[in-house]
Amino acid sequence: MLLDTIAAISTPRGEGGISIVRMSGSDSLSILEKIFKPKSEKRVNELRNYSINFGHIIDNKQIVDEVLVSIMKAPNTYTREDIVEINCHGGFLITEKVLEVVLKNGARIAEIGEFTKRAFLNGRIDLTQAEAIIDVIHGKTEKSLSLSLNQLRGDLRDKIGVIKKSVLDLAAHINVVLDYPEEGIDDPVPENLVANLKKASNEIKELILSYNKGKIIKDGIKTAIIGKPNVGKSSILNSLLREERAIVTHIPGTTRDIIEEVININGIPLLLVDTAGIRNTDDVVENIGVEKSKELINSADLILYVIDSSRDLDEEDFKIYDIINTDKVIGILNKIDIKKELDLSKFPKINKWIKVSALEKLGIDNLEDEIYHYIMNGDVEDSSQKLVITNVRHKSALEKTNEALLNILSTISMGLPMDLMAVDIKDALDSLSEVTGEISSEDLLDHIFSNFCVGK
Ligand code: GDP
Repeated sequence: MLLDTIAAISTPRGEGGISIVRMSGSDSLSILEKIFKPKSEKRVNELRNYSINFGHIIDNKQIVDEVLVSIMKAPNTYTREDIVEINCHGGFLITEKVLEVVLKNGARIAEIGEFTKRAFLNGRIDLTQAEAIIDVIHGKTEKSLSLSLNQLRGDLRDKIGVIKKSVLDLAAHINVVLDYPEEGIDDPVPENLVANLKKASNEIKELILSYNKGKIIKDGIKTAIIGKPNVGKSSILNSLLREERAIVTHIPGTTRDIIEEVININGIPLLLVDTAGIRNTDDVVENIGVEKSKELINSADLILYVIDSSRDLDEEDFKIYDIINTDKVIGILNKIDIKKELDLSKFPKINKWIKVSALEKLGIDNLEDEIYHYIMNGDVEDSSQKLVITNVRHKSALEKTNEALLNILSTISMGLPMDLMAVDIKDALDSLSEVTGEISSEDLLDHIFSNFCVGK
């Protein structure tokens, strides 16, 4: 496939030490020849592959910038095409100028993600790896980064490959049976093929189940801190953030808006929202906050319900308690530095209370541990070592695959004719190919030829 030559600034816009203007395509080197004057006085085609070369970018005989140019020739490059990277000075204007010269001499401005798209189109990576590259760039915590790096390494692609092989083996068997009935292969589907299909189905189930955790690790868990005014919600938020962000005050109901912050709990992003105190009030502005709070209770994945251990419980505490969803709540007893005995049995829906003092920073580590255990659902094993899917596209394609696999297995177990499996086999292969971005029918042929000596 011959594509045109694209170029773009590959570093963030702004001022910095260096910026990189990158070109990919078969004209990269001839464009460079027109605009680059190496200090070594060599011609561009004399410069070694994988070399970095000092010199000047020239436009109309004028020096545009002093640069270092990396030369990477196809096919062992990011896109599998010839790539040139111009390291220029990291100013906004100078970088734009270098790009302009490159474009003026024959390159086209690259679309978003086009270098990676080429890496995929030219077969260097599959779709799961292309998606992983985006996740690596957006990765916010160590854990999500390590999941993305596993996927970039090709772990998911390889797993899909193994699953696919079990389906292709069955397809090959059926093809031979149907095409060469005289060979007498009319026995039931061989045991080992059935066993492999069952194994594949179980592995897919595990992958589908891993999605919820994968999504939390990647995107975080939305957490609302709920409680009546003045119980210390903002102070708890600040303790978790370990910095002063929300305005803390002793006047009830002053945290009127909702503040979103992201904190990192053992590698899981917690999207924290501090809500306006939920109470009946005539204050319009505050009412907006109150409405938002109620919405939040419904949309949050986790609720931290706070009560104040220094004051007697009152009607307001119970009103809020009544509207919180109980299967996703952790109780927090704040202000334990001021002792008072509260009857926690009045909150039968909350089975665990974490005692903290946001003011004195007591119990905050405990709270973090509890949140982590809640998120991981008791499974605190290091999931970065396991294959976990984080992408809903993969999940829904795998669900389709598994449905097809289960149909195939039931057709086999009922001893129905083999050609009844054809549609399910195609569905299974298509949905697996959806995950990796391949086309399946050619694979099928290749596989049949590689496994059977059909010409015999
Ligand atoms: P919010 O309205 O629920 O967000 O409560 P704030 O975080 O604004 O806190 C209300 C008041 O309680 C402030 O004066 C805080 O300093 C105080 N406060 C918060 N946490 C504690 C605590 O653990 N101990 C004590 N003694 N005071 C606290």
